Amino acid sequence: MKITDVRACQPVTAKSPDDWRTTVGQILVAVDTDAGLTGYGVGGGGFAGIHVVRTVLRDLLLGRNPAEIATLWREMYDSTLAFGQKGLVVMAISGIDLALWDLHGKAEGVPVYDLLGGAEHRRMPTYITVWDNNALRQVVDDGYRGFKLHMECLADLSVSVDEFAPVIVDQLKTSREIIGPETALMGDAWMKWDMPQTQAVIEGVGKSGLVMEWLEEPLPVDDEAGYAQLVEESPIPIAGGEHEYTVAGFQHLVEKKLHTVLQPDVCWCGGLTELVRIYEMAAEHGVRVCPHRGSEIWSLHAMAALDPEPLAESGRHWMDWVGGQPPIVDGFIEVEDRLGLGIVLDESSLVTMTTPIYDDWRRA
Ligand SMILES: [Mg+2]
Repeated sequence: MKITDVRACQPVTAKSPDDWRTTVGQILVAVDTDAGLTGYGVGGGGFAGIHVVRTVLRDLLLGRNPAEIATLWREMYDSTLAFGQKGLVVMAISGIDLALWDLHGKAEGVPVYDLLGGAEHRRMPTYITVWDNNALRQVVDDGYRGFKLHMECLADLSVSVDEFAPVIVDQLKTSREIIGPETALMGDAWMKWDMPQTQAVIEGVGKSGLVMEWLEEPLPVDDEAGYAQLVEESPIPIAGGEHEYTVAGFQHLVEKKLHTVLQPDVCWCGGLTELVRIYEMAAEHGVRVCPHRGSEIWSLHAMAALDPEPLAESGRHWMDWVGGQPPIVDGFIEVEDRLGLGIVLDESSLVTMTTPIYDDWRRA
């Protein structure tokens, strides 16, 4: 079997949030073959990612055997090393890599989890991310095994630490009251806090006797000294990694003890090839992996096959153009016995974005 085309587009969805995901958004990648099979994957990087897919990566893949995924991954990474390594180039590679795994499963006539050694878990517990406590009240009875409060917009970052921290702690206390004492509670600061703010929140959480499963990305991702200090002194586990790339990047996080919970996003971190390596590396070091948006079909097969204690985060519901996504029922998600990743896509009905970015650059 040989690769005959590598295509990419940015699907339009009415429900997508007005943020970076749409300006540098999720891209759909299709890998076609001379056997008539097409594999699908999702990556990132918006139009810039599409450009990388349709130029340097497509040139490299045409005529190649799609089953040689590890070799092709290495060649894609090496050929973009000078301008890639992290960020949107690796997001673009992620989409192709997922499409190659989907294709491999379809060609072998098995679900991808069988290619990874078989599903240890078919039915997995999930948690949901919400942006405020009103939203939390609406889903609290839906059976989720955990709830994550996204705290990015819950307090004014410009006020003093003494004013800031109690606002956040009060919000977390309210979340705990809503969900009760038993269910896991997480908080996500989306890289918005500084060290004094983070320390004050952790201290406030401790004083109020709140139990938290983890605190996610409190500091900017490149504040390595800050994360090392937090992991050392925080009684709350420190989570992160949705903005990290490749197993090499995650190995660095582990060796420098910057996070206690790793959250790779399979559509961004280098694809399934890298997620598998991250699971293997983390297992060697005894570190927990809890993939970002893990209940999406792209991560689900790796979680089913490789995760000793899966907890799948709710998916991006606005990506409603991905068919075949298993539903979350009573807080659980079940990976289905379908070929490849189990995606169903109707290309003819897909509406895609067009771009003016290649228009004449000269002033009118
Ligand atoms: Mg997060």
